[in-house]
Amino acid sequence: MSATKRVGFIGLGNMGTPMAANLVRAGHDVVAYDLAEERTRGFAQAHAARATQSLAELGAHAEIAITMLPSGHEVREALLEAQGGALAANLRPGAIVIDMSSADPVGTRTLGGDLAGRSIALVDAPVSGGVPRATDGTLAIMVGGDAAAVAAVKPVLATMGKNLFEVGGPGCGHAMKALNNFLAATSSAAGAEAIAIGSRFGLDPAVMTDVINASTGRSFVSENLIKQHVLSGAFATGFALGLLAKDVKIAADLAEQIGVDAPVGRLVSGLWSEARDALGGAQDHSRAWEHWQRRAARKAAE
Ligand code: NAD
Repeated sequence: MSATKRVGFIGLGNMGTPMAANLVRAGHDVVAYDLAEERTRGFAQAHAARATQSLAELGAHAEIAITMLPSGHEVREALLEAQGGALAANLRPGAIVIDMSSADPVGTRTLGGDLAGRSIALVDAPVSGGVPRATDGTLAIMVGGDAAAVAAVKPVLATMGKNLFEVGGPGCGHAMKALNNFLAATSSAAGAEAIAIGSRFGLDPAVMTDVINASTGRSFVSENLIKQHVLSGAFATGFALGLLAKDVKIAADLAEQIGVDAPVGRLVSGLWSEARDALGGAQDHSRAWEHWQRRAARKAAE
């Protein structure tokens, strides 16, 4: 394979659009696809890439097919089911699929086995850093898969991320990502609770955030979310509530599937699922704070 790859990119949402743009900028020959036709068209118009609504065309083009879709469910659908399974049927033996979505690691292992039967390798390479780091190409990327396939795709991944972590065999990237987001989601749920208690007692939430950021309770959430998105009322992180609720559930379900007791995971997953069910999955995930604040106020009014 040459340094410049023929890449098929599937999923031009908040993250996929800037990631695919970085691939184009690095000189790769990109054919892009999204279920939403206007996104595919818009991407091709804005960048030196080709748009297609045909998964067969994308498969025939791609040495490497990258998926950046909501969950493993859509990834499996795009590869094996949509348009009569045209994508997997048209990828050549030796092609590599990189799933950069945040997906369920057990499903990833099953999908990897299905693709291996067609001599197609699957690498799981989910990301962290959100839209800003997807845009400037500095995502953290957690890579799982067989060593040869991982080695082959590293240069392509390096155009989208700065920190590449090879975390293990198939599914390990997805497991790592779910566990990272479980921790971030736990900070957020506990942070909202701390602010609700403090405000009720008479503390100023902005002052609380400054104190936490200079103290041992600080986290990504206290440094980057509370003032910037919650107290400001911006609620514009670019990361949907439904996606984070999905990630925490993946972590809690993984514990269940492999027989690890995870009471915090069950509790935090329940809190995020409740917020998603109340507000709708398309809302920015930072809006969960409003939901929890309202719930805390109702209790205080009782
Ligand atoms: P998004 O909802 O903005 O984009 C998803 C895209 O996939 C949409 O354009 C949608 O039209 C398309 N799509 C859905 N089903 C499809 C299908 N079957 N075939 C083709 N296209 C389809 O989501 P996002 O924020 O870009 O997130 C993508 C993935 O990255 C998710 O797994 C998410 O959990 C993860 N992630 C998101 C962030 C973030 O900050 N937004 C950060 C890290 C990881």
